[in-house]
Amino acid sequence: MTTQNVSDGQSLLERIQPVSGGREILDPATGELVGRAPEADLADLDAAVARAKAAQSGWAARADEDRAGLLNAAADAIEAQAEELAVLLSREQGKPLNGPNARFEVGACVAWLRATASFPVEPEVLLDDESGHAELHHRPLGVVGAIGPWNWPMMISIWQIAPSLRMGNTVVIKPSGYTPLSVLGLVEVLNTVLPADLLIAVPGRGDIGDRLTRHPDIAKIMFTGSTPTGKKIIAAAAETVKRLTMELGGNDAGIVLDDADPAAIAEDLFWGAFINTGQTCAAMKRLYVPDALYDQVCDALVAVAGQMPMGNGLDEGNVLGPLQNRAQWEIVDRLVTAAVDSGARVLTGADPSPEAVDGSGGHFYPTTLIADIDGDDPLVVEEQFGPALPIIRYTDLDEAIAAANALEVGLGSSVWSSDLDRARAVAARLEAGTTWINKHGAIDPRVPFGGAKESGFGLEFGAHGLREVSQPHVISW
Ligand code: NAD
Repeated sequence: MTTQNVSDGQSLLERIQPVSGGREILDPATGELVGRAPEADLADLDAAVARAKAAQSGWAARADEDRAGLLNAAADAIEAQAEELAVLLSREQGKPLNGPNARFEVGACVAWLRATASFPVEPEVLLDDESGHAELHHRPLGVVGAIGPWNWPMMISIWQIAPSLRMGNTVVIKPSGYTPLSVLGLVEVLNTVLPADLLIAVPGRGDIGDRLTRHPDIAKIMFTGSTPTGKKIIAAAAETVKRLTMELGGNDAGIVLDDADPAAIAEDLFWGAFINTGQTCAAMKRLYVPDALYDQVCDALVAVAGQMPMGNGLDEGNVLGPLQNRAQWEIVDRLVTAAVDSGARVLTGADPSPEAVDGSGGHFYPTTLIADIDGDDPLVVEEQFGPALPIIRYTDLDEAIAAANALEVGLGSSVWSSDLDRARAVAARLEAGTTWINKHGAIDPRVPFGGAKESGFGLEFGAHGLREVSQPHVISW
Protein backbone atom coordinates (compact mmCIF):
# COMPACT_ATOMS: atom_id res chain seq x y z
CA MET A 1 0.00 0.00 0.00
CA THR A 2 1.78 3.14 -1.17
CA THR A 3 0.35 6.56 -0.53
CA GLN A 4 1.49 9.92 -1.75
CA ASN A 5 3.69 12.13 0.39
CA VAL A 6 2.15 15.16 2.01
CA SER A 7 3.15 18.26 0.11
CA ASP A 8 1.88 21.78 -0.10
CA GLY A 9 -0.70 22.49 -2.71
CA GLN A 10 -2.22 19.04 -2.79
CA SER A 11 -5.87 18.67 -1.93
CA LEU A 12 -6.83 16.50 0.99
CA LEU A 13 -8.24 13.93 -1.41
CA GLU A 14 -4.99 13.85 -3.40
CA ARG A 15 -3.03 13.30 -0.20
CA ILE A 16 -5.02 10.24 0.91
CA GLN A 17 -5.39 8.43 -2.40
CA PRO A 18 -2.90 5.74 -3.46
CA VAL A 19 -0.47 6.65 -6.23
CA SER A 20 -2.09 3.98 -8.35
CA GLY A 21 -4.89 1.48 -7.98
CA GLY A 22 -7.16 1.50 -4.97
CA ARG A 23 -10.87 0.90 -4.73
CA GLU A 24 -13.25 3.27 -6.48
CA ILE A 25 -15.59 5.11 -4.12
CA LEU A 26 -18.74 6.40 -5.81
CA ASP A 27 -20.93 9.33 -4.81
CA PRO A 28 -24.24 7.85 -3.55
CA ALA A 29 -26.17 10.81 -4.96
CA THR A 30 -24.81 10.63 -8.51
CA GLY A 31 -22.76 7.48 -9.00
CA GLU A 32 -19.77 9.66 -9.96
CA LEU A 33 -16.27 8.79 -8.82
CA VAL A 34 -15.35 10.53 -5.55
CA GLY A 35 -11.88 9.04 -5.29
CA ARG A 36 -9.90 5.83 -4.83
CA ALA A 37 -9.32 4.33 -1.42
CA PRO A 38 -6.15 2.48 -0.51
CA GLU A 39 -6.77 -1.09 0.66
CA ALA A 40 -4.55 -2.50 3.36
CA ASP A 41 -3.77 -6.16 3.75
CA LEU A 42 -3.19 -8.10 6.94
CA ALA A 43 0.57 -7.47 6.83
CA ASP A 44 -0.13 -3.72 6.71
CA LEU A 45 -2.33 -4.12 9.77
CA ASP A 46 0.35 -6.01 11.70
CA ALA A 47 2.90 -3.35 10.79
CA ALA A 48 0.54 -0.58 11.92
CA VAL A 49 -0.11 -2.27 15.26
CA ALA A 50 3.65 -2.71 15.79
CA ARG A 51 4.28 0.99 15.12
CA ALA A 52 1.43 2.07 17.38
CA LYS A 53 2.71 -0.23 20.12
CA ALA A 54 6.24 1.15 19.84
CA ALA A 55 4.95 4.73 20.09
CA GLN A 56 2.62 4.13 23.03
CA SER A 57 4.97 4.20 26.01
CA GLY A 58 6.48 7.54 24.97
CA TRP A 59 3.03 9.01 24.52
CA ALA A 60 1.87 7.69 27.90
CA ALA A 61 4.92 9.25 29.53
CA ARG A 62 3.96 12.73 28.31
CA ALA A 63 2.27 15.02 30.82
CA ASP A 64 -1.50 14.89 30.70
CA GLU A 65 -1.65 18.60 29.84
CA ASP A 66 0.55 17.94 26.79
CA ARG A 67 -1.86 15.30 25.59
CA ALA A 68 -4.83 17.58 26.21
CA GLY A 69 -2.99 20.38 24.40
CA LEU A 70 -2.50 18.18 21.36
CA LEU A 71 -6.20 17.36 21.26
CA ASN A 72 -6.90 21.10 21.17
CA ALA A 73 -4.31 21.52 18.41
CA ALA A 74 -6.03 18.72 16.51
CA ALA A 75 -9.33 20.58 16.88
CA ASP A 76 -7.69 23.72 15.46
CA ALA A 77 -6.34 21.72 12.50
CA ILE A 78 -9.82 20.38 11.71
CA GLU A 79 -11.30 23.85 11.95
CA ALA A 80 -8.69 25.13 9.50
CA GLN A 81 -9.76 22.51 6.94
CA ALA A 82 -13.39 22.22 7.93
CA GLU A 83 -14.93 23.00 4.55
CA GLU A 84 -12.70 20.60 2.61
CA LEU A 85 -13.52 17.86 5.12
CA ALA A 86 -17.25 18.63 4.93
CA VAL A 87 -17.28 18.47 1.11
CA LEU A 88 -15.40 15.15 1.14
CA LEU A 89 -17.82 13.77 3.73
CA SER A 90 -20.84 15.00 1.80
CA ARG A 91 -19.64 13.46 -1.46
CA GLU A 92 -18.69 10.11 0.02
CA GLN A 93 -21.42 9.65 2.63
CA GLY A 94 -24.13 11.52 0.73
CA LYS A 95 -25.23 13.74 3.62
CA PRO A 96 -25.94 17.36 2.69
CA LEU A 97 -23.55 20.12 3.65
CA ASN A 98 -26.38 21.89 5.47
CA GLY A 99 -28.87 20.86 8.14
CA PRO A 100 -27.66 18.50 10.89
CA ASN A 101 -25.31 16.91 8.37
CA ALA A 102 -21.78 17.32 6.97
CA ARG A 103 -20.77 20.76 8.30
CA PHE A 104 -22.48 19.88 11.56
CA GLU A 105 -20.50 16.60 11.75
CA VAL A 106 -17.16 18.31 11.18
CA GLY A 107 -18.12 20.90 13.82
CA ALA A 108 -18.94 18.07 16.23
CA CYS A 109 -15.44 16.62 15.70
CA VAL A 110 -14.00 19.94 16.86
CA ALA A 111 -16.38 20.18 19.82
CA TRP A 112 -15.69 16.61 20.99
CA LEU A 113 -11.91 17.04 20.77
CA ARG A 114 -12.04 20.25 22.82
CA ALA A 115 -14.43 18.81 25.39
CA THR A 116 -12.42 15.60 25.72
CA ALA A 117 -9.30 17.70 26.34
CA SER A 118 -11.08 19.52 29.17
CA PHE A 119 -12.36 16.72 31.40
CA PRO A 120 -10.45 16.22 34.66
CA VAL A 121 -8.38 13.06 35.02
CA GLU A 122 -7.67 12.79 38.74
CA PRO A 123 -6.98 9.78 40.94
CA GLU A 124 -9.96 9.03 43.15
CA VAL A 125 -9.48 8.55 46.92
CA LEU A 126 -11.72 5.61 47.81
CA LEU A 127 -10.83 5.16 51.45
CA ASP A 128 -8.92 7.35 53.86
CA ASP A 129 -9.44 6.62 57.56
CA GLU A 130 -7.85 4.74 60.43
CA SER A 131 -8.47 1.43 58.63
CA GLY A 132 -6.31 2.39 55.67
CA HIS A 133 -6.04 4.28 52.41
CA ALA A 134 -7.03 3.31 48.88
CA GLU A 135 -6.94 5.32 45.70
CA LEU A 136 -8.01 4.56 42.16
CA HIS A 137 -5.78 5.56 39.27
CA HIS A 138 -6.49 5.22 35.58
CA ARG A 139 -3.55 3.98 33.51
CA PRO A 140 -3.30 3.72 29.72
CA LEU A 141 -4.34 0.39 28.24
CA GLY A 142 -1.92 0.27 25.29
CA VAL A 143 -3.06 0.22 21.66
CA VAL A 144 -6.80 0.74 21.10
CA GLY A 145 -8.38 -0.73 17.95
CA ALA A 146 -11.20 1.46 16.61
CA ILE A 147 -13.78 0.09 14.17
CA GLY A 148 -16.54 2.30 12.86
CA PRO A 149 -19.63 2.49 10.63
CA TRP A 150 -20.46 4.51 7.53
CA ASN A 151 -23.22 6.79 8.83
CA TRP A 152 -21.24 9.37 10.86
CA PRO A 153 -17.74 8.29 9.89
CA MET A 154 -15.80 11.34 11.05
CA MET A 155 -17.68 12.08 14.27
CA ILE A 156 -17.72 8.48 15.49
CA SER A 157 -13.99 8.16 14.73
CA ILE A 158 -13.33 11.19 16.92
CA TRP A 159 -15.43 9.63 19.70
CA GLN A 160 -13.02 6.70 19.61
CA ILE A 161 -9.76 8.57 18.98
CA ALA A 162 -10.06 11.54 21.36
CA PRO A 163 -10.57 9.72 24.70
CA SER A 164 -8.09 6.99 23.74
CA LEU A 165 -5.30 9.50 23.03
CA ARG A 166 -6.13 11.64 26.04
CA MET A 167 -5.63 8.63 28.33
CA GLY A 168 -2.20 7.79 26.87
CA ASN A 169 -3.17 5.08 24.42
CA THR A 170 -2.31 4.94 20.75
CA VAL A 171 -4.94 4.08 18.12
CA VAL A 172 -5.20 1.89 15.04
CA ILE A 173 -8.44 2.73 13.26
CA LYS A 174 -10.26 0.69 10.63
CA PRO A 175 -12.86 2.74 8.75
CA SER A 176 -15.98 1.25 7.19
CA GLY A 177 -15.35 0.03 3.65
CA TYR A 178 -18.19 2.31 2.52
CA THR A 179 -16.66 5.54 3.83
CA PRO A 180 -12.88 5.12 4.03
CA LEU A 181 -12.01 8.47 2.43
CA SER A 182 -13.80 10.48 5.13
CA VAL A 183 -11.86 8.75 7.90
CA LEU A 184 -8.57 8.85 5.99
CA GLY A 185 -9.10 12.58 5.37
CA LEU A 186 -9.81 13.18 9.04
CA VAL A 187 -6.76 11.15 10.16
CA GLU A 188 -4.59 12.97 7.62
CA VAL A 189 -5.59 16.32 9.14
CA LEU A 190 -5.14 15.09 12.73
CA ASN A 191 -1.70 13.75 11.87
CA THR A 192 -0.53 17.18 10.75
CA VAL A 193 -0.31 17.98 14.48
CA LEU A 194 -0.02 14.64 16.29
CA PRO A 195 3.38 12.97 16.84
CA ALA A 196 4.10 10.05 14.51
CA ASP A 197 2.37 6.70 14.96
CA LEU A 198 -0.11 7.72 17.65
CA LEU A 199 -2.95 7.36 15.19
CA ILE A 200 -2.78 5.04 12.19
CA ALA A 201 -5.64 4.33 9.79
CA VAL A 202 -5.81 0.89 8.15
CA PRO A 203 -8.54 0.96 5.50
CA GLY A 204 -9.92 -2.37 4.43
CA ARG A 205 -12.78 -4.79 4.64
CA GLY A 206 -14.15 -6.90 7.48
CA ASP A 207 -11.10 -9.20 7.52
CA ILE A 208 -8.97 -6.28 8.74
CA GLY A 209 -11.52 -5.66 11.50
CA ASP A 210 -11.59 -9.33 12.38
CA ARG A 211 -7.78 -9.49 12.70
CA LEU A 212 -7.80 -6.31 14.80
CA THR A 213 -10.24 -7.89 17.25
CA ARG A 214 -7.98 -10.95 17.65
CA HIS A 215 -4.61 -9.18 17.62
CA PRO A 216 -2.59 -9.91 20.79
CA ASP A 217 -1.14 -6.39 20.83
CA ILE A 218 -4.52 -4.66 20.78
CA ALA A 219 -5.67 -4.03 24.34
CA LYS A 220 -9.16 -2.77 23.64
CA ILE A 221 -11.66 -2.56 20.82
CA MET A 222 -13.97 0.41 20.52
CA PHE A 223 -16.62 -0.72 18.08
CA THR A 224 -19.58 1.13 16.61
CA GLY A 225 -21.69 -0.75 14.13
CA SER A 226 -24.43 -3.32 13.83
CA THR A 227 -25.43 -5.80 16.51
CA PRO A 228 -24.62 -8.88 14.35
CA THR A 229 -21.04 -7.67 13.73
CA GLY A 230 -20.80 -6.72 17.40
CA LYS A 231 -21.62 -10.28 18.42
CA LYS A 232 -18.80 -11.59 16.21
CA ILE A 233 -16.39 -9.12 17.80
CA ILE A 234 -17.39 -10.10 21.33
CA ALA A 235 -16.69 -13.74 20.46
CA ALA A 236 -13.36 -12.93 18.76
CA ALA A 237 -12.20 -10.71 21.62
CA ALA A 238 -12.64 -13.52 24.13
CA GLU A 239 -9.42 -15.17 22.91
CA THR A 240 -7.29 -12.35 24.30
CA VAL A 241 -9.71 -11.04 26.98
CA LYS A 242 -9.82 -7.67 25.25
CA ARG A 243 -11.62 -4.74 26.79
CA LEU A 244 -14.63 -3.71 24.70
CA THR A 245 -16.87 -0.72 24.19
CA MET A 246 -19.76 -1.83 22.00
CA GLU A 247 -22.04 0.79 20.46
CA LEU A 248 -24.45 -1.33 18.46
CA GLY A 249 -27.72 -1.06 16.61
CA GLY A 250 -30.93 0.38 17.94
CA ASN A 251 -34.61 0.64 17.21
CA ASP A 252 -35.49 3.64 19.34
CA ALA A 253 -39.11 4.20 20.35
CA GLY A 254 -40.66 7.62 20.86
CA ILE A 255 -43.84 7.81 22.95
CA VAL A 256 -46.10 10.84 22.65
CA LEU A 257 -48.27 11.36 25.75
CA ASP A 258 -51.84 12.62 25.39
CA ASP A 259 -50.99 16.05 26.87
CA ALA A 260 -48.37 16.89 24.22
CA ASP A 261 -48.78 19.80 21.80
CA PRO A 262 -48.46 18.30 18.28
CA ALA A 263 -47.64 21.58 16.56
CA ALA A 264 -44.95 22.42 19.12
CA ILE A 265 -43.18 19.04 18.93
CA ALA A 266 -43.57 18.21 15.23
CA GLU A 267 -40.25 19.58 13.98
CA ASP A 268 -38.26 17.99 16.82
CA LEU A 269 -40.08 14.70 16.23
CA PHE A 270 -39.16 14.92 12.56
CA TRP A 271 -35.45 15.52 13.14
CA GLY A 272 -35.41 12.92 15.92
CA ALA A 273 -36.30 10.38 13.24
CA PHE A 274 -34.81 11.83 10.05
CA ILE A 275 -31.44 13.18 11.18
CA ASN A 276 -28.85 12.08 8.62
CA THR A 277 -31.78 10.87 6.50
CA GLY A 278 -32.61 8.29 9.17
CA GLN A 279 -29.14 6.70 9.08
CA THR A 280 -28.40 7.32 12.73
CA CYS A 281 -27.99 4.75 15.50
CA ALA A 282 -30.00 6.70 18.06
CA ALA A 283 -32.64 8.07 15.69
CA MET A 284 -36.29 7.55 16.52
CA LYS A 285 -37.28 4.51 14.47
CA ARG A 286 -40.86 3.94 15.69
CA LEU A 287 -43.30 6.47 17.10
CA TYR A 288 -46.20 5.59 19.43
CA VAL A 289 -49.03 8.15 19.43
CA PRO A 290 -52.27 8.07 21.50
CA ASP A 291 -55.69 7.94 19.83
CA ALA A 292 -56.52 11.42 21.07
CA LEU A 293 -53.63 13.06 19.19
CA TYR A 294 -53.06 10.57 16.37
CA ASP A 295 -54.41 12.54 13.42
CA GLN A 296 -52.94 15.83 14.65
CA VAL A 297 -49.44 14.36 15.07
CA CYS A 298 -49.62 12.65 11.66
CA ASP A 299 -50.77 15.86 9.95
CA ALA A 300 -48.10 17.95 11.69
CA LEU A 301 -45.36 15.51 10.69
CA VAL A 302 -46.51 15.46 7.06
CA ALA A 303 -46.42 19.27 7.04
CA VAL A 304 -42.85 19.35 8.40
CA ALA A 305 -41.69 16.60 6.01
CA GLY A 306 -42.97 18.65 3.08
CA GLN A 307 -40.63 21.50 4.00
CA MET A 308 -37.41 19.44 4.03
CA PRO A 309 -35.74 19.20 0.61
CA MET A 310 -33.90 16.02 -0.31
CA GLY A 311 -31.22 15.86 -3.00
CA ASN A 312 -27.53 16.11 -3.82
CA GLY A 313 -25.64 17.03 -0.67
CA LEU A 314 -23.54 19.71 -2.36
CA ASP A 315 -26.68 21.69 -3.21
CA GLU A 316 -26.89 24.21 -0.37
CA GLY A 317 -30.69 23.98 -0.29
CA ASN A 318 -30.92 20.31 0.69
CA VAL A 319 -31.17 18.98 4.22
CA LEU A 320 -31.86 15.31 3.40
CA GLY A 321 -29.74 13.11 1.13
CA PRO A 322 -29.50 9.64 -0.36
CA LEU A 323 -28.97 6.37 1.46
CA GLN A 324 -25.23 5.86 1.63
CA ASN A 325 -25.26 2.51 -0.16
CA ARG A 326 -27.45 0.27 -2.24
CA ALA A 327 -27.69 -2.47 0.41
CA GLN A 328 -29.25 0.01 2.85
CA TRP A 329 -31.62 1.31 0.15
CA GLU A 330 -32.80 -2.26 -0.41
CA ILE A 331 -33.49 -2.74 3.31
CA VAL A 332 -35.59 0.42 3.50
CA ASP A 333 -37.48 -0.43 0.30
CA ARG A 334 -38.16 -4.00 1.46
CA LEU A 335 -39.53 -2.88 4.84
CA VAL A 336 -41.70 -0.07 3.43
CA THR A 337 -43.06 -2.28 0.63
CA ALA A 338 -43.97 -5.01 3.13
CA ALA A 339 -45.72 -2.47 5.38
CA VAL A 340 -47.76 -1.07 2.48
CA ASP A 341 -48.61 -4.58 1.27
CA SER A 342 -49.88 -5.45 4.74
CA GLY A 343 -52.39 -2.58 4.61
CA ALA A 344 -50.59 0.23 6.44
CA ARG A 345 -51.46 3.75 5.28
CA VAL A 346 -48.89 5.89 3.43
CA LEU A 347 -49.01 9.49 4.66
CA THR A 348 -46.17 10.59 2.41
CA GLY A 349 -43.37 8.95 0.41
CA ALA A 350 -43.00 5.22 -0.25
CA ASP A 351 -42.79 6.04 -3.97
CA PRO A 352 -39.13 5.96 -5.07
CA SER A 353 -38.49 7.24 -8.58
CA PRO A 354 -37.74 4.74 -11.37
CA GLU A 355 -34.14 6.05 -11.41
CA ALA A 356 -33.84 5.28 -7.69
CA VAL A 357 -35.35 1.85 -8.17
CA ASP A 358 -32.90 0.87 -10.92
CA GLY A 359 -30.03 2.66 -9.16
CA SER A 360 -29.20 5.01 -12.05
CA GLY A 361 -30.33 8.11 -10.16
CA GLY A 362 -28.49 7.64 -6.88
CA HIS A 363 -29.71 5.87 -3.75
CA PHE A 364 -32.54 8.26 -2.91
CA TYR A 365 -35.51 7.00 -0.94
CA PRO A 366 -38.23 9.60 -0.38
CA THR A 367 -39.12 10.81 3.10
CA THR A 368 -41.74 8.29 4.18
CA LEU A 369 -44.34 8.37 6.96
CA ILE A 370 -46.47 5.26 7.50
CA ALA A 371 -49.62 5.31 9.68
CA ASP A 372 -52.07 2.69 10.95
CA ILE A 373 -49.36 0.06 11.06
CA ASP A 374 -49.37 -3.06 13.24
CA GLY A 375 -47.00 -3.00 16.19
CA ASP A 376 -45.38 -6.23 15.03
CA ASP A 377 -44.86 -5.14 11.41
CA PRO A 378 -41.24 -5.63 10.23
CA LEU A 379 -40.94 -1.86 9.65
CA VAL A 380 -41.59 -1.45 13.38
CA VAL A 381 -39.56 -4.30 14.86
CA GLU A 382 -36.53 -4.26 12.50
CA GLU A 383 -34.01 -1.43 12.27
CA GLN A 384 -34.82 0.40 9.00
CA PHE A 385 -31.86 2.85 9.25
CA GLY A 386 -33.32 5.14 6.63
CA PRO A 387 -35.96 7.81 5.95
CA ALA A 388 -39.12 5.85 6.83
CA LEU A 389 -40.95 6.30 10.13
CA PRO A 390 -43.81 4.01 11.27
CA ILE A 391 -46.39 5.78 13.47
CA ILE A 392 -48.18 3.29 15.72
CA ARG A 393 -51.53 4.18 17.31
CA TYR A 394 -52.04 3.32 20.99
CA THR A 395 -54.95 3.48 23.43
CA ASP A 396 -53.34 2.31 26.65
CA LEU A 397 -50.06 3.92 27.79
CA ASP A 398 -48.94 0.79 29.64
CA GLU A 399 -49.23 -1.15 26.40
CA ALA A 400 -47.18 1.47 24.53
CA ILE A 401 -44.44 1.26 27.18
CA ALA A 402 -44.50 -2.55 26.99
CA ALA A 403 -44.21 -2.38 23.19
CA ALA A 404 -41.32 0.10 23.41
CA ASN A 405 -39.49 -2.31 25.75
CA ALA A 406 -40.36 -5.48 23.86
CA LEU A 407 -37.35 -5.56 21.51
CA GLU A 408 -33.89 -6.97 22.20
CA VAL A 409 -32.29 -3.58 21.60
CA GLY A 410 -32.36 -0.48 23.81
CA LEU A 411 -30.14 2.37 22.63
CA GLY A 412 -32.22 5.55 22.97
CA SER A 413 -35.88 6.37 23.53
CA SER A 414 -37.99 9.46 24.06
CA VAL A 415 -41.13 10.74 25.78
CA TRP A 416 -43.06 13.75 24.48
CA SER A 417 -45.29 15.64 26.91
CA SER A 418 -46.22 19.07 28.24
CA ASP A 419 -45.89 17.73 31.79
CA LEU A 420 -42.25 17.11 32.79
CA ASP A 421 -43.08 15.07 35.90
CA ARG A 422 -45.35 12.78 33.94
CA ALA A 423 -42.75 12.42 31.18
CA ARG A 424 -40.05 11.58 33.75
CA ALA A 425 -42.26 8.89 35.30
CA VAL A 426 -42.69 7.27 31.87
CA ALA A 427 -38.98 7.70 31.08
CA ALA A 428 -38.06 5.76 34.23
CA ARG A 429 -39.94 2.75 32.87
CA LEU A 430 -38.14 2.61 29.49
CA GLU A 431 -35.30 0.15 28.90
CA ALA A 432 -32.65 2.18 27.09
CA GLY A 433 -29.23 3.73 27.55
CA THR A 434 -30.74 7.22 27.17
CA THR A 435 -34.29 8.52 27.36
CA TRP A 436 -34.80 12.04 26.08
CA ILE A 437 -37.80 14.21 26.97
CA ASN A 438 -39.22 16.37 24.19
CA LYS A 439 -36.18 15.70 22.00
CA HIS A 440 -34.52 12.63 20.54
CA GLY A 441 -30.91 11.83 19.76
CA ALA A 442 -29.48 15.02 21.27
CA ILE A 443 -25.98 14.13 22.41
CA ASP A 444 -23.45 16.19 24.32
CA PRO A 445 -19.73 15.48 24.86
CA ARG A 446 -20.21 15.97 28.64
CA VAL A 447 -23.07 13.45 28.96
CA PRO A 448 -22.30 9.71 28.81
CA PHE A 449 -23.90 7.73 26.01
CA GLY A 450 -24.25 3.96 25.63
CA GLY A 451 -26.70 1.16 25.01
CA ALA A 452 -28.85 -1.22 27.02
CA LYS A 453 -29.53 -4.86 26.10
CA GLU A 454 -28.25 -5.81 22.61
CA SER A 455 -27.51 -2.17 21.78
CA GLY A 456 -24.18 -2.72 23.50
CA PHE A 457 -22.27 -1.89 26.63
CA GLY A 458 -19.74 0.62 27.86
CA LEU A 459 -20.07 4.39 27.92
CA GLU A 460 -18.66 7.06 25.66
CA PHE A 461 -18.18 10.78 26.38
CA GLY A 462 -17.34 12.77 29.48
CA ALA A 463 -15.20 11.56 32.36
CA HIS A 464 -17.03 8.22 32.19
CA GLY A 465 -15.81 7.79 28.62
CA LEU A 466 -12.20 8.48 29.64
CA ARG A 467 -12.35 5.74 32.26
CA GLU A 468 -13.47 3.25 29.61
CA VAL A 469 -10.20 3.60 27.71
CA SER A 470 -8.03 3.12 30.74
CA GLN A 471 -6.93 0.36 33.09
CA PRO A 472 -8.23 0.96 36.62
CA HIS A 473 -5.40 0.54 39.11
CA VAL A 474 -5.99 0.58 42.87
CA ILE A 475 -3.10 1.52 45.14
CA SER A 476 -3.76 0.76 48.77
CA TRP A 477 -1.86 0.90 52.05
P1 NAD B 1 -21.45 -2.99 10.35
O1 NAD B 1 -21.56 -3.78 11.61
O2 NAD B 1 -21.84 -3.63 9.08
O3 NAD B 1 -19.94 -2.51 10.14
C1 NAD B 1 -19.25 -1.77 11.13
C2 NAD B 1 -17.75 -1.98 10.96
O4 NAD B 1 -17.39 -3.32 11.30
C3 NAD B 1 -17.23 -1.75 9.55
O5 NAD B 1 -16.05 -1.01 9.63
C4 NAD B 1 -16.98 -3.16 9.05
O6 NAD B 1 -15.99 -3.22 8.05
C5 NAD B 1 -16.49 -3.83 10.32
N1 NAD B 1 -16.58 -5.28 10.34
C6 NAD B 1 -17.34 -6.09 9.57
N2 NAD B 1 -17.16 -7.38 9.94
C7 NAD B 1 -16.27 -7.39 10.96
C8 NAD B 1 -15.71 -8.41 11.78
N3 NAD B 1 -16.02 -9.68 11.63
N4 NAD B 1 -14.86 -8.05 12.75
C9 NAD B 1 -14.56 -6.74 12.96
N5 NAD B 1 -15.05 -5.73 12.20
C10 NAD B 1 -15.90 -6.05 11.22
O7 NAD B 1 -22.27 -1.67 10.63
P2 NAD B 1 -22.64 -0.50 9.59
O8 NAD B 1 -23.65 -1.05 8.62
O9 NAD B 1 -21.39 0.12 9.07
O10 NAD B 1 -23.34 0.57 10.53
C11 NAD B 1 -24.71 0.62 10.76
C12 NAD B 1 -25.05 0.01 12.11
O11 NAD B 1 -24.29 0.64 13.13
C13 NAD B 1 -26.50 0.22 12.52
O12 NAD B 1 -27.01 -0.96 13.12
C14 NAD B 1 -26.43 1.32 13.55
O13 NAD B 1 -27.51 1.34 14.45
C15 NAD B 1 -25.13 1.03 14.20
N6 NAD B 1 -24.58 2.23 14.83
C16 NAD B 1 -24.54 2.29 16.19
C17 NAD B 1 -24.07 3.43 16.83
C18 NAD B 1 -24.03 3.54 18.34
O14 NAD B 1 -23.43 4.48 18.86
N7 NAD B 1 -24.63 2.62 19.09
C19 NAD B 1 -23.64 4.51 16.05
C20 NAD B 1 -23.69 4.41 14.66
C21 NAD B 1 -24.16 3.26 14.06
